[in-house]
Amino acid sequence: MTSFSLRQTYSQLPEHFYASAALTPVAAPRLVKLNVPLAKALGLDPAWLSGPEGVAMLSGSYMPPGVQPLALAYAGHQFGQFVPQLGDGRALLLGDVTDASGAVREIQLKGSGRTAFSRRGDGRAALGPVLREYVLSEAMAALGVPTTRALAAVLTGETVMREAALPGAVLTRVASSHIRVGTFQFFAARQDRAGLRLLADYAIARHYPQAAGADAPYLALLESVIAAQAELVAQWMLKGFIHGVMNTDNMAISGETIDYGPCAFMEQYDPATVFSFIDERGRYAYGNQPSMALWNLTRLAEALLPLLAEEEEQAIAVAQQALAAFESRFQAAYLAGLRAKVGLKAAQPEDAALLGSLLETMQAEQADFTQTFRALSTAEAISGETVPDDLAPFGAWCARWRQRLAQEVPEPAPVRAAAMKRVNPAFIPRNHLVEAMIRAAVEQEDFTQFETLLEVCTRPYDDQPGRDAFARPAEPGERVRHTFCG
Ligand code: AMP
Ligand code: MG
Ligand code: MG
Repeated sequence: MTSFSLRQTYSQLPEHFYASAALTPVAAPRLVKLNVPLAKALGLDPAWLSGPEGVAMLSGSYMPPGVQPLALAYAGHQFGQFVPQLGDGRALLLGDVTDASGAVREIQLKGSGRTAFSRRGDGRAALGPVLREYVLSEAMAALGVPTTRALAAVLTGETVMREAALPGAVLTRVASSHIRVGTFQFFAARQDRAGLRLLADYAIARHYPQAAGADAPYLALLESVIAAQAELVAQWMLKGFIHGVMNTDNMAISGETIDYGPCAFMEQYDPATVFSFIDERGRYAYGNQPSMALWNLTRLAEALLPLLAEEEEQAIAVAQQALAAFESRFQAAYLAGLRAKVGLKAAQPEDAALLGSLLETMQAEQADFTQTFRALSTAEAISGETVPDDLAPFGAWCARWRQRLAQEVPEPAPVRAAAMKRVNPAFIPRNHLVEAMIRAAVEQEDFTQFETLLEVCTRPYDDQPGRDAFARPAEPGERVRHTFCG
């Protein structure tokens, strides 16, 4: 008997939205990690999931009765070049569950084998990128950033050919949906207005039900996605997260971070920071993320034009108006977040200059973004007799900051420091730790670093005595320059 059941809603859309996928069983599926709290929150049985049937399902080797896995069709701009057909080339959508809070979530396998959309790829994933996505997505969730989640990682018992033969693995991911900007582009590129409308209706019902009651529901959908993405990218900027491959097929309509590839957290503050090996020109550098998000949203608006108005000129005018809201929405979210990071509750016109000067000093001093904000989050930094040693390069800035703090509603320094610690993490998945964790797992089948890094990074705001090694930036010799896709 199975104790696993899913609803399938995407399968009720027309057949050209997806391709049904046959299973390609793997040699010897073995569970590396099950996210037990997440499984429980989703109403799934951890005992079944970690038993033989569950592990076979999580490797794409077996499906419980009634579950027909689907590969979804989508298109996308990759580094600015439009590709009319991409689609899930190595992922399978299993179906929907409703979580403890009443929200609908999709379960998807990534690395489970070839599909109708695989083109040249093998449909598989290597263990390294699977563990990277697991740790980074769970860290982002713990940081409070909207994101897909990791439910499980399974070894396949097979190897995949990359730069070498590497252990294969499958990640089970949970998302509010896998609809991308590129999904809309798929139908727009085919001038399939009926498909476009069905997709928009599905997205509205699932993500933005309030848009259904608006005067212009499809414009309200576009505005909602623009707002969600402005908030999301502001959160990335505030945490130092660099997605690395912000192609339109990697941008979810829901406003969740999706498709963790060569992503990484910045250490020394520098807007030009790029890690992704494939991002040669720095298109998706840290500081370019807001403008790249707007670029992608402009592609979404173009795809939606046929639904926005009868006359194209009219449609373009309303789309442009909606897009114009992105910049102010992003700036407001980013500035509010920066204020909170330095303990300010009121808003004053000079705050942008004060915060800009902090970032400039960080850049000039090559200071670590995460550590600097955490160092500011102490009673001594806020109001001590002197500026703490670890903030020495910021002495002049701290003097300005303290003058500004004096204009706030008075609050004991330890209380302000505690509030700052709740937005300034001590722990992020630092690149050298992620790489070392992957090496131990791939070369020695040693998952202890994976477990520890996950444990540390899913309590990012707590002081964790004895874990200073996880909080410090890489020494020059440890620095990771490039991250790779998998
Ligand atoms: P990504 O760069 O992961 O966002 O993927 C871009 C496209 O390539 C998507 O259509 C993926 O499904 C496809 N893809 C990535 N890796 C593989 C693979 N190993 N096998 C088949 N398709 C893949
Ligand atoms: Mg089909
Ligand atoms: Mg992708």
